[in-house]
Amino acid sequence: MLDQSTIDKITDAALIQDVVSDYVTLRKRGVNMLGLCPFHNEKTPSFTVSPAKGIFKCFGCGKGGNSVHFIMEHEQITYYEALKYLAKKYHIEFQEREFSAEELAIRNDRESMFLVNEFAQKYFTSTLHNHLDGKSIGLGYFRERGFREDIIQKFQLGYSLDQRDAFSQGAIKAGYNREYLVKTGLTLENESGQLADRFGGRVMFPVHK
Ligand SMILES: [Zn+2]
Repeated sequence: MLDQSTIDKITDAALIQDVVSDYVTLRKRGVNMLGLCPFHNEKTPSFTVSPAKGIFKCFGCGKGGNSVHFIMEHEQITYYEALKYLAKKYHIEFQEREFSAEELAIRNDRESMFLVNEFAQKYFTSTLHNHLDGKSIGLGYFRERGFREDIIQKFQLGYSLDQRDAFSQGAIKAGYNREYLVKTGLTLENESGQLADRFGGRVMFPVHK
């Protein structure tokens, strides 16, 4: 297990623009940096890096997070392995005592669920603004309730289609593990292993911390 100070040292050293630049050519765009997303095919850059916030976000596929999350996604490795990878890159001593299997599982779970939640927010927001039902039912509902456009944008409100598993299948297609879809509570799984969206046909309010 890594102590928090080692984790802090790694995340402090691993500047997001630095880490991403190993894989993506970034151009400056105002306070942010922009490039072609390494996680989905695109010709027009929608992959944004914010050095000030220390995060990346793709407005095309919805992936986002800090430099550790970027390495997790890019290398398809766990949170712990990503920290180890970055420690090596930045010559930070990786002092560890053995993780118990349980500690390791909890930490990896938490980080994987974070990524699933990020994806879900983007997915539901995109559905609200781009899908016919999102626009007519979701946006229609918000407007009826008096939500202004800037509020809908600011709080990243969304809409979950009134279908059995549209979200769950979308997430799996995007490469997210069904186990974490179920663990976050976004997806329900019955005894025969069939998935269903928990929030089908509802407007979505992401929790911002
Ligand atoms: Zn993308």
